Amino acid sequence: MNIPVTVLKGVGKAAAESLAEMQIETIEDLIMTFPYRHEDFQLKDLADTPHNERVTVEGRVEAEPSVLFLGKKKSRTQVRLLVGRHLIKAVFFNQPYVRNKLAIGSVATITGKWDRGRQVITVTSHTLGPRTDGQDFEPVYSLKGAIQQRTFRKLMRQALDMAKEGMEDCLPQRYLDEYQLVSVADALEWVHFPPDGEALKKARRRFVYEELLLFQLKMQVLKKRNREAEGGSRIDYNNDELRRFIASLPFELTGAQKRAVNEICRDLKDPYRMNRLLQGDVGSGKTVVAAIAVFAGFTAGMQSALMAPTEILAEQHASTIEEWFRPFGLNIALLTGSIKGSKRKVLQQQLAAGEIDLLIGTHALIQPEVKFKNLGLVITDEQHRFGVDQRRVLRDKGYNPDTLFMTATPIPRTLAISAFGEMDISVIDEMPAGRKEIQTFWTKKELFGKVIGRMEQELQAGRQAYVICPLIEESDKLDYQNAVELYGQLSEVFRNKYKVGLMHGRLHPDEKEEVMRLFSIGEISVLVSTTVVEVGVNVPNATFMLIYDAERFGLAQLHQLRGRVGRGSEQSYCVLLADPKTEDGKERMSSMTETNDGFVLAEKDLKLRGPGDFFGRKQSGIPEFRMADLVHDYRALEIARKDAENLVNSDEFWTGDETACLRTHLESSGVLTAERLD
Ligand code: ADP
Ligand code: MG
Repeated sequence: MNIPVTVLKGVGKAAAESLAEMQIETIEDLIMTFPYRHEDFQLKDLADTPHNERVTVEGRVEAEPSVLFLGKKKSRTQVRLLVGRHLIKAVFFNQPYVRNKLAIGSVATITGKWDRGRQVITVTSHTLGPRTDGQDFEPVYSLKGAIQQRTFRKLMRQALDMAKEGMEDCLPQRYLDEYQLVSVADALEWVHFPPDGEALKKARRRFVYEELLLFQLKMQVLKKRNREAEGGSRIDYNNDELRRFIASLPFELTGAQKRAVNEICRDLKDPYRMNRLLQGDVGSGKTVVAAIAVFAGFTAGMQSALMAPTEILAEQHASTIEEWFRPFGLNIALLTGSIKGSKRKVLQQQLAAGEIDLLIGTHALIQPEVKFKNLGLVITDEQHRFGVDQRRVLRDKGYNPDTLFMTATPIPRTLAISAFGEMDISVIDEMPAGRKEIQTFWTKKELFGKVIGRMEQELQAGRQAYVICPLIEESDKLDYQNAVELYGQLSEVFRNKYKVGLMHGRLHPDEKEEVMRLFSIGEISVLVSTTVVEVGVNVPNATFMLIYDAERFGLAQLHQLRGRVGRGSEQSYCVLLADPKTEDGKERMSSMTETNDGFVLAEKDLKLRGPGDFFGRKQSGIPEFRMADLVHDYRALEIARKDAENLVNSDEFWTGDETACLRTHLESSGVLTAERLD
């Protein structure tokens, strides 16, 4: 199949150029170019065909055709056909020659638009003679250059006939049997030229599974490599001490937290390198799970690092964790960009001497001059803000620590095992008990005044509020509320009563920190902000959140924003101010009022926006599939993942004949040969 396409009949210079433009060079490239749809030529009953629908029927010519010439090249040919019980008219435009082919009593198959009222089909394509088998579906390809669908189909036919000889099936027979999948030869034939709708479905089913299996194999091989990479270490923590620490916490762990702790502890203890994603909705209590992991490392004499995306978050983590650790004599240090000079020097010396057990900070943690004595565990909060590169920096400094990534973005499982398929995943899917559900309302923008009145009641009770809007400043392109103007308005409304603060991404980092600090100590009562407050800020006294132009935001983002309130013991509220125009927009708003469960919303978001947009950016780590669809094929994905996992962990996969073809695939995608994996 590695034969160049130029051996095919009818591939001249122009066709070869078009094919090259589509990256089709070999017969294999060609047959793996799937049609994006099929034109449906199945025979239909006219009685069931709605007005103006495209339809294919077979009929007998009942009367001499008549031709009307309408100008130089224009004509209209009309013929009466008996289709089942219907006597209809077929109209052909600009094809006067058909008259000679449509003798009375002959049979023709025609396709075209059905005018139910006038009982006329305007023909777009036709074949003479009765319908024969295998003509129900015609493939339509996405083509480039000058090549025509017809030519391309002919090449495809030739290529398939050539390739059929000795085609090897990559899927082991037992999977074909178990899932009743068709052979690769049938699947290829049918994906292009299906004899009927059923065959097309079967072909799709096979390719979906194959594609997902290969993808998951890649992930599982990476995972295995990563685990077995050199330098993994066994952290022999002291279980009794760890228990004492957990018992000393001011609350009982939730079941989900316990499960995550156990999974992490198992990773710490085994000789492999941990590479785990800890997912949990906002407020589900990830920090304490991280602290427990750090404590475990401490009992084994290991240092840990905790990286946060902002200084504020780093400080918040430091102060909470410090409180938990106080009775146990751990040394915690905070390293941020604002710690400079001799203070920084001292800190670095202590770190290198192993006197600091936990270093918390921002990116500053991975600067070249920061050296640990015995770094065993690295935790990053809000993992997608830290890239692979930063992890590599640590590795290149000679550390090969266990790593834990925490994210508060609930990621639907199908996406999680795709985008993070090479990692182990722990999910905290349970909220601590006694937490009051945030009450969410959706109102029209014209009720802004009323909403502000309601907000003031909260302020009077001594609590604080967030007001979020999409833009920083007025824009002539977008008609949305902007923070600067709203800040001005609210400052006026609350003059001499409550202090209003302004926060957005264009402020200097120092200004941002200062505003956040004032808000967190309660000096500022109302914080007008863009979405920069999205990540992690914890001000438990804030009980009211107003999101202006809420239809502008995706569900995942709205949920993240809402998570800034409801962090204390008081009842919290979230008001969405929105006049959505689309059905999607309306659905998003009602979804928000219906559930507080981030995973439910994430699944909704995935369905509404599709996998490509879920992370709101390109390069989400999710591959483009030829056939599979992560939303619809989630069951196949789960199955493929299990199978891939079992395969990779079996000796037979690495040596057996049946899996040789799969191994070759992995090799050609570079997975089996890559030296260093991340
Ligand atoms: P997140 O997962 O968003 O990082 P945090 O770790 O900040 O959540 O936890 C949110 C709040 O819940 C914190 O005040 C924390 O102390 C508290 N918390 C965590 N776990 C529990 C628990 N099991 N029971 C009660 N409160 C808890
Ligand atoms: Mg957190």
